[in-house]
Amino acid sequence: MVEISGVGVGSGVAHGPVALMAAPLEAPADAPSERTPDEEKAAVSAAVSAVAAELNARGERAGGAAQDVLEAQAMMAEDPTLAEAVDAKIDGGSTGEYAVHTAFAEFAAQLVELGGYLGERAADLADVAQRVIAHLRGVAAPGVPEPGHPFVLVARDLAPADTALLDLDQVLAVVTTDGGPTSHTAILAREKGIVAVVGTGELELADGQEVLVDAANDLVVAGPTDDQLAEADKRAAARAAAANAPITPGALADGTLVPLLANLGSPDGAAEAVELGAEGVGLFRTEFLFLSADEAPSVESQTESYRQLLEAFAGKKVVVRALDAGADKPLSFLTDADEENPALGRRGIRALQHRENVLRDQLTALAAADAATDADLWVMAPMVATVDETEYFTALAEELGLKTAGVMVEVPSSALLADDILRVADFASIGTNDLVQYTMAADRLLGSVAHLQSPWHPAALRLIRMVAEGGANNDKPVGVCGEAAADPLLAVVLVGLGVKTLSMSPSALADVRAELKRYTLADAERIAAAAIAAGNADGAKRAARAAA
Ligand code: PEP
Ligand code: MG
Repeated sequence: MVEISGVGVGSGVAHGPVALMAAPLEAPADAPSERTPDEEKAAVSAAVSAVAAELNARGERAGGAAQDVLEAQAMMAEDPTLAEAVDAKIDGGSTGEYAVHTAFAEFAAQLVELGGYLGERAADLADVAQRVIAHLRGVAAPGVPEPGHPFVLVARDLAPADTALLDLDQVLAVVTTDGGPTSHTAILAREKGIVAVVGTGELELADGQEVLVDAANDLVVAGPTDDQLAEADKRAAARAAAANAPITPGALADGTLVPLLANLGSPDGAAEAVELGAEGVGLFRTEFLFLSADEAPSVESQTESYRQLLEAFAGKKVVVRALDAGADKPLSFLTDADEENPALGRRGIRALQHRENVLRDQLTALAAADAATDADLWVMAPMVATVDETEYFTALAEELGLKTAGVMVEVPSSALLADDILRVADFASIGTNDLVQYTMAADRLLGSVAHLQSPWHPAALRLIRMVAEGGANNDKPVGVCGEAAADPLLAVVLVGLGVKTLSMSPSALADVRAELKRYTLADAERIAAAAIAAGNADGAKRAARAAA
């Protein structure tokens, strides 16, 4: 039995045989072919047909949006123009592999040049080329393996497309050597409720080896004992029972209400969030609506999106964040692409203040959607660092007819200034993903500094407490909408520090709801006091567990 530590996502546990994600293929060399052109063409044609058939079969199994994506890839594989380009290269003396490699790359470059939707298909084409070349070599295709039985996926990291297409009936858990707790893999895994441990560093695991993935304890156990497996099964069953328990408002054991809200990136997720018991929306990430837009969206199109969202939450609180463009979420119409260090550049409210017309349009659309619906709309500004920015945003929101305007606390300066900021703002919502990134000076996307990115770090907890105190002093509500709120025990700590609402991926609501019910407010304060007194993130987690 070997224990490997990483960073758990959520609080699940699962076990099963490992399936390793194959490494990317080495690019084929430009060597002369030893076969006749006809032999090369026949081999390529057979490989292309096999890949198209595989993609179609996978699509059929996946259904829904994934089926559309996979069938489109199958059509690309068999595109006759591409086949002609490959044949011409083979006639010129290339091997089949090299002809596929270069012809697909040239076609992908043309797509990139066309931009927009077609440009985004270039990555799909590269994936098809890799699959065809793998077939020609007789090796496993790179990407998510398909061993034909449920498995624990072990990979360096997953592309968002890999995670989005994971077959949840087959993937028991995900382990990645890279990536931190707020990487895309982690966020998508949480959204889909996949048990995951990320950022383990180099691993020595083999295909078929039995592993236990324990996200709650940040552990991967290779060759677990029977006792460990039995205990894990018991915990998984308790978790399943919590997921099926009747949905009640978020509350502590003594009845203290802690509204549990949803993080959403599109109105499409609203119905599911309501079904899972979201009592409103604590963070609507508007930039996700416009990631592929070349121009600022019109007031009309925005009004329609916001109206759809607000209608799904009639009578409930909905917190919409103004566009948070920059760094990991660039918007071509708002972000300066030439910054050397975009995480510290003109992003969030800075970009909006620089391009006030974009912010005015967005707030105008929000006010129009608010007037047409019955939800309780709150708006907030991202990446606020100063009292001046707070005054700027809240005044503009008021001018444009929005009744409740607040700020996100994601930069240490705004936590330090919370008392002054909350004198001006109607509320604050703490974005722990960025707050931890900036407090610890550790890029949230970089696996090599994942150990510094924990929201359990007492440095982050102390800043969170300052913001909660700023809220209490000014009688203004303070919530958390970063990934920290989705970690059940950390959620208890946050409440113990004075946080009033928690917002998270809807899939995390059941776990957090069940955990909060186990403690009174006095318990939560005691657990928080133990965590904040620790010397580091691991110590804080251990102290909280011991106090709980
Ligand atoms: C955060 O930074 O914690 C947050 C909620 O915003 P985002 O993850 O969208 O940057
Ligand atoms: Mg953020």
